[in-house]
Amino acid sequence: GTVLVGGGTGFIGNHLIKALKNKNYAVKIVSRMPGPVNISWQELNSRGLPQNTVAVVNLAGQNVMDFKRRWTTGFKQNVFSSRVNTTTSLAEAINKASTKPKVYVAMSGVGAYKPDSNKEYDECSPLENFDFFSKLVLEWEKAATLDLESKSNCRVVTIRSGVVLGKNGGMIKQLYLPFYLGLGGPVGNGSQYLPWIHIKDLVELILYSIENDKVEGVLNGVAPQLCTNKEFSNAFAKALKRPALIPIPSFIFNLILGTERAKMITTGQKVIPQRTQEFGFTFSFPDVVSACRNIVKEA
Ligand code: NDP
Repeated sequence: GTVLVGGGTGFIGNHLIKALKNKNYAVKIVSRMPGPVNISWQELNSRGLPQNTVAVVNLAGQNVMDFKRRWTTGFKQNVFSSRVNTTTSLAEAINKASTKPKVYVAMSGVGAYKPDSNKEYDECSPLENFDFFSKLVLEWEKAATLDLESKSNCRVVTIRSGVVLGKNGGMIKQLYLPFYLGLGGPVGNGSQYLPWIHIKDLVELILYSIENDKVEGVLNGVAPQLCTNKEFSNAFAKALKRPALIPIPSFIFNLILGTERAKMITTGQKVIPQRTQEFGFTFSFPDVVSACRNIVKEA
């Protein structure tokens, strides 16, 4: 069957599509750009799902951590609508399909949980609307289940992902050079938690969600071992055989990114993959030291 991946051209998408092809799935991508397996969002809206779509995944979203883009109202609107509208379009296409795919896997983030140095969050923790990102997550997750619940023959899985660690993308791509030059270090005092997941585990979790008929609902996409920003910085620097001595004061990130956006790295939360593990998923990289070693080896 075919797996349709919204935003499949990005960092996570590239890794996912390789894995899907290895498992002999046909792949189609919904993208703003033309390409051999791509369809446009307009085509999706007008023609619906491609034939024989067995699973739908959404990975689309304007890159939040684009340091070149200022945190303006317009950019925030892009960040918001590129996630909510794409998730809605795919849900609507599923609703309209006469033969339903068996599963819709939608991405979300741990920004749903309010930063706190003590509280532990699992998938059942109540969510609040306390800032831009938490509001975004609420709308993003709601969009995935739009009208679908009543037509229960398509499972919906929402993955609340932590920072995805992998080569060629995400946070590691931005940190590689400074850390390689020995200029890396924790953000602020580094005591804030950093919910994270290795790219291989995230891809495996998406495949697991596609292939296991019992998996449904919200899954925290985070490694089981809690890790602080400082522990991550030490692990990454050590894997590169570099020191990580120089703490980077939070105000620098506030200046570059804007305080609201900088909170994603200057603050953090303890997130547990409770349901993910209850469903029987096992992590290849449960701890940040082995994850960083693996990433540096592959880079
Ligand atoms: P990327 O930025 O690498 O890729 C996302 C894709 O989304 C792009 O390839 C692009 O596809 C599409 N896209 C970008 N801007 C827009 C827009 N304005 N409108 C429609 N589509 C757009 O992201 P990742 O692969 O890193 O992440 C995928 C998803 O997972 C995102 O929603 C992200 O928020 C979420 N996530 C990622 C984490 C991470 O650490 N990487 C952590 C937690 C959640 P094209 O150009 O082909 O249209």
